[in-house]
Parts: sequence; C-alpha cells; structure tokens
Amino acid sequence: MNYATNFPSIKDQVSPEEWQARLDLAACYRLVDTYGMTDLIYNHITARIPGTKDHLLINLYGLLYKEITASSLVKINVDGEILSKPDTDYGINKSGYVIHGAIHMARPEVSCVLHTHTRAGIAVAAMACGLLPLSQTSIRFVGHLGYHDYEGPAVELDERERLVRDLGPHDAMIMRNHGLLTCGATVQQAFNTMYQLELSCRSQVDAMAARTELTMPGENVLAHTAHLYQPGARRPYGVLEWPAMLRRLEAEQKTTDYPPYWQ
Ligand SMILES: [Zn+2]
Repeated sequence: MNYATNFPSIKDQVSPEEWQARLDLAACYRLVDTYGMTDLIYNHITARIPGTKDHLLINLYGLLYKEITASSLVKINVDGEILSKPDTDYGINKSGYVIHGAIHMARPEVSCVLHTHTRAGIAVAAMACGLLPLSQTSIRFVGHLGYHDYEGPAVELDERERLVRDLGPHDAMIMRNHGLLTCGATVQQAFNTMYQLELSCRSQVDAMAARTELTMPGENVLAHTAHLYQPGARRPYGVLEWPAMLRRLEAEQKTTDYPPYWQ
C-alpha cells in the first residue's frame, strides 16, 4: 500500500483560484492543529472551489492535520465522488461528505465547513443546558447557534436534511454528544467562528467546574451584544486575524520537519 506523505506540488496543474482555496484550507487545517482542536486523524474541514457549485476540497483520511498540504487535498463533489486526488492509497472519510456536502448544497453562500471533536466541545455538547452566555465570547452565539441531536455516526444520507434544518441560517452548531461545527462565507471566517466557539466551550467547562455561583448578563445586553459580534456587523472576521496567523505558521515552519502547508 502507498501511504507515503510527501505529496508533490500540483500548483501548476490547477487554476489560480483553486490553488488559493487549497492554500487557505491547508492553512486552516494547520491552525486547527496549532490551537489544539484536532482528534488524531479524524474530523474534516471542506472548502468549496471558487466558481463551482458542488466541487469541494477535503483532507485525505489518515493524515495528521499538521501533515496536510495544499497539494494533498482531495477534490470531491457533494455526493462524495472523488474527482481528483494525489497518487496514494489514502481515501476520504464518508462522514466528511455526508455532513459537509449537505451544508454546502443547502447553503450556497457557505464556502467552508469545519467540524471538530474537542474535549471542551464534546463536554458542552453533552450538557442539557447547551452553550451558556457566560462570557463576551459566548454571548456572540446567543440566538445564532443550532443544535443537532445525535443519531449515530453520520454515514446515512437521510440525516442530511436534519443537519441542514438544525443548522438553519446560523454559522455554528453544537452536535449533541458529538462535537462542534461552524461554517462561513470564507475559510477565514469559518475558522474564526470555530475558534470563538471552542473558546466559549472551554471557558464554560472551566466556569462550571469551579463549583461557584455563576453570573450572566441580562436579556437586553445579550441580544445587543450578540448582534454586535456577528460577522460583518462591525467588520468581517478573519481579515485582520488571518494574515497574523499565517505569519505564525510561517515562523513555526522553521522549527518542524513536517512539510509546509503551502506545498
Ligand atoms: Zn464528527
């Protein structure tokens, strides 16, 4: 079996738009790793290839996120058919296109879908109370967060309509007893939302574990604050943050033997 992980660059074989989408998505995988949101080789982040309706990029199933490069990403359609992939025996994870394909199909304005199984995300996904407005970070999700009940591993296509219904118009969803999901008009925005959702879950778990009485702002403050933190209400998310994070990846690349994400 060919499980080598040194994938040659395909920069010259794809359109500039697809290459940029590959760079953005590969960087996103690296950042999810950098910020402690991976689960071994599992989970998936997808990006729509600009100019297409149903062509997506997704990770090879078997790589660590810190091994993922722009050229290693697989091109699939929303039905999970592989359109192109590197010369390798790694394939893709079926749940990836079941969950992500459904959202990409139903929400044409969404170009990136991000799914994690983090310890704090799973913990909040197990709480009947869901995500509480305990912090400025989590208040952003008041009225802007979907909940999807657990149905077993997401490998059945009929779960897709319920995933889409439960996400509704939001860009974030708690998958009960499972994990977290965010999406966005750009890879940058979807990552930013996941970072904020993850931080909200981590702080909620810490606050609840402290076994002291908790305080929450009043309803009037919650709705107003949630509105001000929506992407685009004051400024789009990811525009200032993303280049700073790419600088971090570039700097840290000098201290690792893993291939650069831009390869
Ligand atoms: Zn999952």
